[in-house]
Parts: sequence; C-alpha cells; structure tokens
Amino acid sequence: MSNAFILLGSNMGDKKNMLSNAVNDIKKTIGEIITKSSIYETEPWEVDGFQESYLNQVIQINTALTAKNLLIELNKIETKYGRNREIKNSSRTLDLDILFFDNQIINNNDLTIPHPRLHQRNFTLIPLMEIAPYYIHPKLNKNIEELYDECKDPSEVILLENE
Ligand code: ADP
Ligand code: MG
Repeated sequence: MSNAFILLGSNMGDKKNMLSNAVNDIKKTIGEIITKSSIYETEPWEVDGFQESYLNQVIQINTALTAKNLLIELNKIETKYGRNREIKNSSRTLDLDILFFDNQIINNNDLTIPHPRLHQRNFTLIPLMEIAPYYIHPKLNKNIEELYDECKDPSEVILLENE
C-alpha cells in the first residue's frame, strides 16, 4: 500500500458538490480516504481575464496503485466531470493533482512528484498544513509548516464555513 496526498480544485458550476463527488469516486476506484482537509476558497491563479474563485481541498489516501496508474485513474475522474484540457489554466470543473506519493521523487514528461509547484502556492500549502503540518517534503527536506513560512505567495485562502 502507498500513501498519497491529492489536491482537489474546482472553479465552475456547483463546486462544493463537485469536490464531494470526486472524493466518492476516489473512494470507489482508487483507495481508502485517510484524512480530508476542510474546503478553502482561493483566488484564481495566474490567469488573464476573469475567472470565478476556486474551491480547494487536500485528501490523504491509501492506494494499491502505482503513481503512474494513480494519475491515469485521476484523469478518468476529471474527464468524467467534463474537464476541458485545451486551454492552459482555463476554468475547470475539476482538477486533481498528486502532491506526494510515499517519499518518491519522479520526474517524467507527464508526471512530476512531489508536485513541482506545491511549495509556491498558498491554496495547496494551507489545506495540506491542516492535515499534515509535519510531513516532510522528500526533495526540499522541510516540513509543510516550514514551507508555508517561507512561501511568498500573497494570495488569500479562506476557510469555507458550514461544511
Ligand atoms: P495544472 O494542474 O498545473 O493546472 P493540468 O491539470 O492541466 O495543469 O495538468 C497537466 C498535466 O500535468 C497532466 O496531464 C499531467 O500529466 C501532468 N502532471 C505532472 N505532474 C503531475 C502531478 N503530480 N499531478 C497531476 N498531474 C501532473
Ligand atoms: Mg492538474
């Protein structure tokens, strides 16, 4: 069994419902959900023009899949909810990113683990810090709390109440 952290994001349609559908699908096709962070509302990231705000959540799972097969299964779930990949950073109903996969370091064309931008983004670090503050980034050798203290991202990430 492997231990993985996944970032869920949505900024179109019924975003909250989208996240809970995705978590249910992950439970069915990928593995056991160990922990879920709260849901956070975040500013859109590096985009031109107007986009709705995002909802983000991080979950920790146990899975029998390899990292590569985990990515394939996550892509299937994104596609099921109508993800359009044609425009980089365009609005998306659902985005599923692998943050960590055990302490593996992977650098392939289609898969980089740990996620290459996780330490630069409040919308990833804040939910991750809620559930795993002392988890050590296997490449940077610092824990999540330390990475957050060093992160210069000015964007706001707000805890969504009444969850
Ligand atoms: P982003 O998540 O950066 O906004 P996309 O979701 O469109 O962009 O991802 C584009 C590609 O990134 C995916 O098709 C996938 O092959 C690749 N990728 C590389 N590393 C990862 C990772 N750790 N988790 C998810 N996708 C990844
Ligand atoms: Mg993605």
